[in-house]
Amino acid sequence: MKEIYTIEDLRAWRAGGPEREIRLGVVGDPVAHSLSPAMQNAALQALGIDARDAAFQVRAPELAEAMAAFRALGFLGLNVTVPHKVAALRLVDEVDQLAAKIGAINTIAFRDGRSIGSNTDAPGFSRAVREVFGRALGEMRVLIMGAGGAGRAIAFQCRRECCPEILIGNRSSERAKTLADELKAKALPWDEMSRNAREVDLVVNATPLGLGAADVSPIVTPEYLSGRYVFDIVYGAHETALVKQAKAHGARATDGRAMLLHQGALAFAQWFGLEPPLEVMRAALRS
Ligand code: NAP
Repeated sequence: MKEIYTIEDLRAWRAGGPEREIRLGVVGDPVAHSLSPAMQNAALQALGIDARDAAFQVRAPELAEAMAAFRALGFLGLNVTVPHKVAALRLVDEVDQLAAKIGAINTIAFRDGRSIGSNTDAPGFSRAVREVFGRALGEMRVLIMGAGGAGRAIAFQCRRECCPEILIGNRSSERAKTLADELKAKALPWDEMSRNAREVDLVVNATPLGLGAADVSPIVTPEYLSGRYVFDIVYGAHETALVKQAKAHGARATDGRAMLLHQGALAFAQWFGLEPPLEVMRAALRS
């Protein structure tokens, strides 16, 4: 198996070739950093399912062709990641109600010749909050930094669970306002949102800030994080600036690994209708 497959590989794919076991994939650009195949392959192996998951680096103009190829080749399902979550929604036959509202999908299941899109980032985030912090998302006042695909998923989940307050800050203010209007939440100017951290229970980073080792934290008044829960959905080899900052100021902080685990487990359940082996998947992420 290759580390990363491309559109060229899909064009040359032979059902009976060496890649015949690959029936699932994560599709993104870039995709090299994704821990998704390791996690899903551990689950497949644990349950004795005769299929493998692989990473597919697909550029935006190639997405429609790739999707048609996955379907024609008899794939069972896909995870969709940056930057394709919005475009992929328009390429599937059906989307569930939550994903339609969010306007983005991160999971596709192929069933009876049809492709069904859903968004497991939203419930995956909620499960991760419960697991890591021992609190129900719906009880918390939340500040969400970022109104892209992930920020929208988290904000809709917060509304769904009736969070008592939802504040949204985004670099481009128009996007924060649009999302806040949709949810009857409150939009905050990007340079002022930090100060609102002390008005909430949970602060969420849903921007890519933190992916780069030299990235700064979106919070400029770290003292206001004291006593809060901080969820940075970014994860990587290093601790993000926000997580470091939060811990240093007496907050309980976590990175995005638990969200990755739970969105992946929910995707697995959709593909196979089986209880995902959560502990096996978690161990694969740790290693
Ligand atoms: P996206 O749709 O491209 O949205 C990116 C968001 O971040 C936008 O709100 C954008 O603001 C903002 N942003 C980008 N660069 C910024 C910067 N330098 N400073 C401030 N704001 C910036 O991406 P996404 O799908 O929401 O993903 C966001 C991050 O979450 C990614 O790093 C992704 O890997 C991570 N993620 C993790 C999980 C998980 O399971 N842990 C799941 C989903 C996503 P503008 O509107 O101003 O451009």
